Amino acid sequence: MALLFLSSPERAAVWAPIFEAAGEEMEIGEAAVSDPSAITHILCWQPPKDISRYPNLRVLISSGAGVDQMPTLPEGVQLSRTVAKGIEEMVRDWVVMAALMLHRNMPIYLAQAARGDWRAHMTRGTGFTRVGVMGLGRIGKLAARTLADLGFQVAGWSRSGARVEGIETFGEADLEAFLGRTDLLVCLLPLTPRTQGLMDAAFLARLPRGAMLAHAGRGAQLDMTALRHALDEGQISAAMLDVTDPEPLPQDHWAWGDPRVIVTPHIASETDHAEGAAHALNVIRATREGREIPGLVDPLRGY
Ligand code: NDP
Repeated sequence: MALLFLSSPERAAVWAPIFEAAGEEMEIGEAAVSDPSAITHILCWQPPKDISRYPNLRVLISSGAGVDQMPTLPEGVQLSRTVAKGIEEMVRDWVVMAALMLHRNMPIYLAQAARGDWRAHMTRGTGFTRVGVMGLGRIGKLAARTLADLGFQVAGWSRSGARVEGIETFGEADLEAFLGRTDLLVCLLPLTPRTQGLMDAAFLARLPRGAMLAHAGRGAQLDMTALRHALDEGQISAAMLDVTDPEPLPQDHWAWGDPRVIVTPHIASETDHAEGAAHALNVIRATREGREIPGLVDPLRGY
C-alpha cells in the first residue's frame, strides 16, 4: 500500500519521517508517481484532477474535517475526513471565543474603541443567553458542553436529534422551536445539499429579534445578503463569521468594516501536521486489516 501525498512542503517535511518510522510508503506529489497502480491512498485538500489515473485507489483522505470540496468517488473508493482532537478543540475554542465576544457586546466595543468612545452597554451573565448549536457531531457536542459549562443555556439541533447529556436537543423537524429559543446561534454543520443555503431570510426571521450568529460551518450555508438585511432591520444584532461565501471574502465586501460583523479568514482550526499523519496511518492500517476506516464519510449523507 502506498500513500500519495498532495499537500504543502511544510506538511510533507513532518509526514515523511513519521511514515518512514512506521514503515509505510509515501509519494510526495503526482509528478513523483512512477507507478500509479501502486497508489492505494491519497491525502489531499483539493483532489487530483484525474482520480481514474489510480486504478487501485482505496481511500481518499481529506486533510481537514470537511469533505464538501471532494468529488463523487468511483465505486469502491472510500472517503475519510481527518479526525483529530486538535481540530475539534481549536474549533471549540473559536466558538467559545465568538460566543463570549458576541454575548459581551465586543463588536460594539471594538467599533467604539476605534473612535475612542468610552461608553458602557448593559451586560448580563451567561445564564441569560440561550445558545443554540446547529450540528451535534464531534465538534458541536464538544462546543455545546463547554458553553454549558460556562453557564449559557445551551440547546442543540441535529438531523437525528441525538441526545447529549445536560443539553436540550432538537431533531431536524423541530427547527422552528429550536430557533425560537435561540438568542445566539452557533453553526457547526457540514455542507451538504440539505444545509446549503439553510440560513436564508426566512430562517433568520425565525430567531428572536436581535439574535446573534457565530458561524464556523461552511460559507455556503449562510445567505450573506439575507444576513445584511437582517442586520439592517435589527433582526440580527451582530455576527461573527469564520466562513463566508465566497472565500476569500473580496476586499470590497460589505461585511469587512461593518461594525456589526467580525470576520475571521477560516482560521477556527488548522490540522496539526503530526495529528494528520497519525490519522492517515490509522486509515492505511484499517484498510490493510479490513477494519472500518477512521473518519469514514457516508456518501449518501455527505458527512
Ligand atoms: P460531524 O460529522 O461529526 O457532525 C455533523 C453534525 O451535523 C451531526 O450532528 C449531524 O447530525 C448534523 N447534521 C448534518 N446534516 C444535518 C441536517 N441536514 N440537519 C441537521 N443536522 C445535520 O462533523 P464535525 O462536528 O466534525 O464537523 C462539523 C463541521 O464543522 C464540518 O463539516 C465543517 O463544515 C465545520 N468545520 C469548520 C472548521 C473551521 O475551521 N471553520 C474546521 C472543522 C470543521 P446527526 O448527528 O444526526 O448525524
